Amino acid sequence: PEYDCLQTRIFKIIVIGDSNVGKTCLSYRFCGGKFLQNPEATIGVDFRERTVEIDGEKIKIWDTAGQERFRKSMVEHYYRNVHAVVFVYDITKLSTFESLPDWIEECARHSVSPSVPRIMVGNKCDLTDTCQISTSCAQRLADNYHLPLFETSAKDPSEKEHVDAIFMTLAYKLK
Ligand code: GDP
Ligand code: MG
Repeated sequence: PEYDCLQTRIFKIIVIGDSNVGKTCLSYRFCGGKFLQNPEATIGVDFRERTVEIDGEKIKIWDTAGQERFRKSMVEHYYRNVHAVVFVYDITKLSTFESLPDWIEECARHSVSPSVPRIMVGNKCDLTDTCQISTSCAQRLADNYHLPLFETSAKDPSEKEHVDAIFMTLAYKLK
C-alpha cells in the first residue's frame, strides 16, 4: 500500500464490468450516497475516484467512467497499484455475465496479481422478474475463478447495508 502519512494507508479498489451494469450506482451507494437515478447526468460532477475512511484507513474506489474511451496510458494508470477488484454484472442481462471472463483476463493482462482480493457482484436484484442469471449459474462461474459471489441492488434502499457489507468484505481483506 501507498502511505500518505505515517499512519494512513490508501487502498485502491477498482469496479469493473460492462457499461450499464450499475458500477457507478454501486460505488456511489457505498460511498454514502443515495441511489443515482440518472448516473449519466453526473458526468459534470465526475465520480471516478472517491475516498471513504474506515477505521482511519482510506479506501479509494475507482469507478470506470467510460474507461474504454481513454487512451491506453489512462487504462494502465487505472490498473496500476490496485489492491482489490469488484467485477460487476447485471442479473437481467446475460451478455454482461458472459463478459466476466474477459474482464478477469483483462485484469491479468494489466498485471493485476492473482493474489489481489476480488469479488463478483450480480447487481439489479430488485428486478427479479427479468432475471436471466440464476444464483446457481453465477455460483458455478464464481467457483471456477475462486471468487466470492454477492447478489445485490444499488437501487433498492433496503440493500444499502448489504452493498456496504460487500465493499467492507474487501476492505477487511486488505488489512
Ligand atoms: P455503469 O455504466 O456500470 O456505471 O452503470 P450505472 O451505474 O450508470 O447504471 C446504469 C443504469 O442502471 C442506470 O440507469 C441506473 O439507474 C440503473 N441501475 C443501476 N443499478 C441498478 C439496480 O440495482 N437496479 C435497477 N433497477 N437499476 C439499476
Ligand atoms: Mg459508470
